[in-house]
Amino acid sequence: MFMRIDKLQAALPAPKRADPNAAAALQELLGGKYGEMSTLGNYMFQSFNFRSKEKLRPFYSLVASITAEELGHVELVSNGVAMLANGPDNDGDTVSGGDISNAPFEAMKDIRSFASFASHGGGSMPVNSNSMSWNADMVTTTGNVVFDLLHNFHLECGARLHKLRVYETLSDPTGREVCGYLLVRGSVHAHSYALALKKITGVELEKFLPTPNIPLDKIPECQKYLQEGSHRRLYTWSPADYKEIAGIWGNGEQALPTDPPGELMVVDGLPEGGKIHQLTGVPSAFTPDYAPEEMLEIATKLYNASR
Ligand code: MN
Ligand code: MN
Repeated sequence: MFMRIDKLQAALPAPKRADPNAAAALQELLGGKYGEMSTLGNYMFQSFNFRSKEKLRPFYSLVASITAEELGHVELVSNGVAMLANGPDNDGDTVSGGDISNAPFEAMKDIRSFASFASHGGGSMPVNSNSMSWNADMVTTTGNVVFDLLHNFHLECGARLHKLRVYETLSDPTGREVCGYLLVRGSVHAHSYALALKKITGVELEKFLPTPNIPLDKIPECQKYLQEGSHRRLYTWSPADYKEIAGIWGNGEQALPTDPPGELMVVDGLPEGGKIHQLTGVPSAFTPDYAPEEMLEIATKLYNASR
């Protein structure tokens, strides 16, 4: 089962301005071939379908625990997409919508994903950067542990490739931070699947890394995460379970040669995380509604009654 915590895995800086086309570019990291919906879907169904869970416990725990992290990545990218589409938080949601008769959103007809405004109100969806739906064909779950782990290694390397390309297109701090954080965590995942395959087969897959070969020290947005040691940590994402990943991750083995040095470690639980942005409403876009005063008053009363 899953537990939910009302935070993001990493703190995202506020966007400088609304940029729906940048949001569309970031959608590739959510619903693209190598996006977070794909890593989530692969590890989630592989963990559900995993045979001999007790006998193969460290490998099951690896796939199961990373599943939870990927769900948080879906959440992180989704927040980044909506933040870029909407721009900085403001107090605009306390007034009514004003005059909508003079095409206040005329500029939206020229954005790449008009549906992101028209149907989703500037929110994210499990689609790629061209609004094509993510679908279950992106999921590989064969029942063969070696083949599934090899697929996962390929998937994390592909994710790194397209994160680097998306990063190269973005100038806004929100999208760049999403890429920087995910590049560090993706390196951990690729490395952990490589080590898992090495334990089973003896093949030194970690020598493939990083693929593509851009060290994280070349990415300014990665530096904070490298300094705090995020590149060496695998989390269990659970109060008590999945500790067996320590049999794969740790034991004196080193992180990637191009990463800052240090022992790999398993951390029980989850990272501290950062706050979720407000995504303030835009009454003239009917998010949440044209005249929100009464709704806000009711919500305030209900909130006070709950304390
Ligand atoms: Mn991910
Ligand atoms: Mn990953």
